[in-house]
Amino acid sequence: CQRCLSLIKKTKFLNAYITVSEEVALKQAEESEKRYKKGHSLGDLDGIPIAVKDNFSTSGIETTCASNMLKGYVPPYNATVVQKLLDQGALLMGKTNLDEFAMGSGSTDGIFGPVKNPWSYSKQYREKRKQNSHSENEDSNWLITGGSSGGSAAAVSAFTCFAALGSDTGGSTRNPAAHCGVVGLKPSYGLVSRHGLIPLVNSMDVPGILTRCVDDAATVLGVLAGHDPKDSTTIQDPVKPFTLPSLTDVSKLCIGIPKEYLTPELSSEVQSLWSKAANLFESEGAKVTEVSLPHTSYSIVCYHVLCTSEVASNMARFDGLEYGHRCDSDVSTEAMYAATRREGFNDVVRGRILSGNFFLLKENYENYFVKAQKVRRLIANDFVNVFNSGVDVLLTPTTLSEAVPYTEFIKEDNRTRSAQDDIFTQAVNMAVCDQQLLTVAKWFEKQVQFPVIQLQELMDDCLSVFEN
Ligand code: GLN
Repeated sequence: CQRCLSLIKKTKFLNAYITVSEEVALKQAEESEKRYKKGHSLGDLDGIPIAVKDNFSTSGIETTCASNMLKGYVPPYNATVVQKLLDQGALLMGKTNLDEFAMGSGSTDGIFGPVKNPWSYSKQYREKRKQNSHSENEDSNWLITGGSSGGSAAAVSAFTCFAALGSDTGGSTRNPAAHCGVVGLKPSYGLVSRHGLIPLVNSMDVPGILTRCVDDAATVLGVLAGHDPKDSTTIQDPVKPFTLPSLTDVSKLCIGIPKEYLTPELSSEVQSLWSKAANLFESEGAKVTEVSLPHTSYSIVCYHVLCTSEVASNMARFDGLEYGHRCDSDVSTEAMYAATRREGFNDVVRGRILSGNFFLLKENYENYFVKAQKVRRLIANDFVNVFNSGVDVLLTPTTLSEAVPYTEFIKEDNRTRSAQDDIFTQAVNMAVCDQQLLTVAKWFEKQVQFPVIQLQELMDDCLSVFEN
């Protein structure tokens, strides 16, 4: 714990943490040590330093979403995932930096400033930078971490903790993990509770896990997975332990390579690493086969409509009354709402609220929102079809290129850049509608003792709307 805390201080310039909870961590470490010395039973994560993205509620610790809107907000409760980590003896090192309300894929867009990729300071990159840079300034041209969980990825990558929580709505855990050279796991929707994760897109958000190796990710997933009565979309079935076999035999695996993912924007470096990985599997006896996810090209636009629509509705809770920022001026309620939201949100968030409200206007609803729901169904079906054809896993790149220098990242229109970067990760977040409806239906049935057949019909009705 002390070593991690000292590394947090030494790597402060990375801007990975918004809050460092030093006292909390040291106290937890002390308690963990006592348990150990007394021979008490230990939790799965006893004494393990872990960081948490600053969009998960932490009891008594500021939770900002890197936004002026929530600056100074101290939640009175822990998100279920945070509580589960603590129950297993984990040490909470602090809250990590992100794009405001997790909207972005660079970790450059929060009020606390951009996160720097620890690999920018590797010997290899420093030498490359010296050769290419005309500027004398050593600190220019550092690499972005990707995002929006860039703080968590940098925190793990810089050895300041052993695991971190991120969130993943369209790639926000996988993208920064890829850019920072750590493991990023987005669990299936419904496997891990969203209670206490401040929502971006409720129907796609999933708490994510960042670790240094796959075994660690499996351990953390084992701690987090399972039903939560406070999140009705979590699965009811008991979760099997996630233990990895010591030797993995891939010879019976069928690995699908989606042909639509070979886009012109894919960098040659990532493309060659992708082939290298496929060849590795093949040489170990796996069957590698080309598959098709035909609706991939619609996924960015479809995500945009659904994401902004849910954002418009979600962000309505930030009205200056219940929590967070309230404007100073003594004005009418309506003007207070407007001023509070103008001051509280950055232009990315405001832009999404505006787009979303446009898509949800009565005259646009059918043309945009309902159409996007139908396209979402087609995208989900692409995955179902591939997996029904005998494919066990898909092997895809995570990002279009390696991490780019900050100066390059901010040159382009950030929102367009964000959108393009998520092409390989976003679609799968949308492929959850069936399961989501089913779990809600099952939960509902339990609550009200409603005969399931009626719910099934209700659901089939909803689904047929999507299908048509
Ligand atoms: N980059 C995507 C967005 O900005 C995804 C973000 C996320 O997964 N939280 O919406």
